[in-house]
Amino acid sequence: MNERRMRPAGLVVLTLAALVADGRSAEPVRPNILFLFSDDLTCQAISAYGDERKLLNTPNMDRIAREGMRFDRCLVTNSICGPSRATILTGKYSHLNGFYNNTNSRFDGAQTTFPSLLRDAGYSTAIVGKWHLISEPVGFDYWHILPGQGRYYNPPMIDNGKKVEHHGYTTDIITDLSIEWLRNRDKSKPFLLMSQHKAPHREWSPALRDLGWDEDRDYPEPPTLFDTFEGRGKAIHDHDMGIAGTFTDLDVKLVAPPGIDAEQLAEWNAYYGPRNGAFRKAAPTGKDLVRWRYRRYMHDYLGCVKAVDDNIGRILEFLDEEGLAENTIVVCSSDQGFYLGEHGWFDKRWIFEESLRTPLLVRWPGKVRPGTASASIVSLIDFAETFLDVAGVAAPESMQGRSIVPLLCGEAPSDWRTSLYYHYYEFPVPHRVRPHYGVITDRYKLVHYYKPDVDDWELLDREKDPLETRNFIDDPAYADVVKQLRAELDRLRVEVGDTAEPPRSAYGNQPFANEPRPQGRPGGKTKAAAK
Ligand code: CA
Repeated sequence: MNERRMRPAGLVVLTLAALVADGRSAEPVRPNILFLFSDDLTCQAISAYGDERKLLNTPNMDRIAREGMRFDRCLVTNSICGPSRATILTGKYSHLNGFYNNTNSRFDGAQTTFPSLLRDAGYSTAIVGKWHLISEPVGFDYWHILPGQGRYYNPPMIDNGKKVEHHGYTTDIITDLSIEWLRNRDKSKPFLLMSQHKAPHREWSPALRDLGWDEDRDYPEPPTLFDTFEGRGKAIHDHDMGIAGTFTDLDVKLVAPPGIDAEQLAEWNAYYGPRNGAFRKAAPTGKDLVRWRYRRYMHDYLGCVKAVDDNIGRILEFLDEEGLAENTIVVCSSDQGFYLGEHGWFDKRWIFEESLRTPLLVRWPGKVRPGTASASIVSLIDFAETFLDVAGVAAPESMQGRSIVPLLCGEAPSDWRTSLYYHYYEFPVPHRVRPHYGVITDRYKLVHYYKPDVDDWELLDREKDPLETRNFIDDPAYADVVKQLRAELDRLRVEVGDTAEPPRSAYGNQPFANEPRPQGRPGGKTKAAAK
């Protein structure tokens, strides 16, 4: 697994010596782009973000922050895996790129994407790991991806169209393949490498070497672990993503994860077996059961993040050893944030801060001042134009974001956005989060839950209520705020072109609870595996 041990020790010296002898610079002038992407990685799990619970130390992600810039409000536009990926590739909202949900959307690869434009401009392009857009990747010289959600252990993968089997832990394997591609790439070109982990997506299976990493720590609980949603509407009450009500035996590792082999299972059982035995004997109920699940969840989720961080460390060291660090912009991010027990939840979807905000750490030597932070509202929708800007390639007018390169270079454009538009669709499976759209500013969010059996508006005030447990919509003191935000929301809907009723397929193929089932398709047709 350790790439450094496998590589002949003299290689770096030989490469540099050859370049010096040749009199050329060590790298092309255009910067390389290394995109280190995770699935469901949330800011609360990254020590550079300074979460109060101090859940985990992430020295390697912290290194990127220390040597670069941390974005404190990088927001998503539709908080769910596939749609975020489609938005990153196209620089467009879901209603324009056509990928609304994880249930039945399929990415149209004929669309203009930033990897295709970079390849046309002479970049060598590769994607390794989780793709999750159903159709095959387009715009990449090399792709080696997990089918669908992928597995944590011994993952089947697809190598440029060919099915292959791997043995080991998926986070390690994705990094191995990424480093291997970097080592063997066409060195006459700058590169774009998208190294995309499955972790820490549900079911949160850590590497076997990390089982017990937290020494059975008693984790601090979030203040809203037992949120009762007092004063909130039906959309908030009637969810299916609670630690109390939705966790499965697989989620809490009362059963072993798929794909694990006999030898691995023995090691897995050595850790989980005695603890699961004690749990069954104690048979906790009510709040005690939620607390037990929360602790198990933290061990597993954070254990997955630990391996991501360790592997980010490996790839950063590889850049150092190969002399690539100086001319490579490293971007570390995730497809959305995640709930680590806040509001009693796991998963994502909502416009609330934990799932709306996603990590963004950027290192770019010579451009980004080390150890800086930005509070500006940026978004995944800005990534395409940012990467094109970094490479000196013009972005198409049709892209809807904005390059963050000026922010990276320490500028503060006076016309930078002060609000962002959001729209979530997927319903009712898998987590019964009702479709909603809204406008987000530094302080406020105005949200409309509009379908199928609700018509609720919420005003959130993060200054007065940072945990977002109250709805101020009917408070007379906020009448002017609501009026202004409503006008801004209407303006944004026109600006981004989201004024039409979304197609029915945007929500998924299952009928809503209060609607007749489609004729000839009893029960609707939905992928059971969608998460
Ligand atoms: Ca995700």
